[in-house]
Amino acid sequence: MKYKHLFFDLDRTLWDFDQSAQQTFALLYEKHALKQKGIPDLVTFLGTYNKHNDLLWESYRNGELKKEILRDLRFIHTLESFGIMDQELAVTLSEDYLYYAPRTVHLFPDAVEVVKQLYAHFELHLITNGFEEVQHIKIQTAGLESYFKKVITSEAAGVKKPDPMIFAYALQQTGASLNESLMIGDDLEVDILGAKSFGMDQLYFNPEALPHTENPSYEIRQLKEIVSLLL
Ligand SMILES: [Mg+2]
Repeated sequence: MKYKHLFFDLDRTLWDFDQSAQQTFALLYEKHALKQKGIPDLVTFLGTYNKHNDLLWESYRNGELKKEILRDLRFIHTLESFGIMDQELAVTLSEDYLYYAPRTVHLFPDAVEVVKQLYAHFELHLITNGFEEVQHIKIQTAGLESYFKKVITSEAAGVKKPDPMIFAYALQQTGASLNESLMIGDDLEVDILGAKSFGMDQLYFNPEALPHTENPSYEIRQLKEIVSLLL
């Protein structure tokens, strides 16, 4: 096997972001009595938030929005969608979300077992566009921290995936060479085409079998397939 360094994405690759978010939103919905304030149910609340968050995250990724603004604005817009003009509540929800979400652990099936097995044979690192402090809490609470040698965040790199410069930064930080490195992630554009444009091999984790016309180095539906492919 030619690889020595495996670079993992975190959200929706190891960390089941959607499960974790759903549980966190259930907590916020109860804690802040949002039904009584005019949000009819949890599904509508989460769906509305996701719509606003996706739009704003796109601007954040393009460098048009600072993270401090993004964090509150997505809740301000969500509340406004329900006719709730309450900036203070939005800021409280934002703070609560940032506290509880990374502490609400949901991993994809076999994530810990796969990471443990790979750890015996490779140097493992993360490359994530998530916020620095939040991503560190996630891997701590998930019990994954000791397996990853370097956590490369876009904040530290100064650029976000799919910018090829983040992969250059990752190699420099880890001392890895390009031809012994593999990027593993769930986002075709951000992780896979990003790594590919830098010339790094890629493993596409595509659990929902989303159709596409790209040609990644490897593609899997379940994390445990990484072990059979690489070991
Ligand atoms: Mg991801």
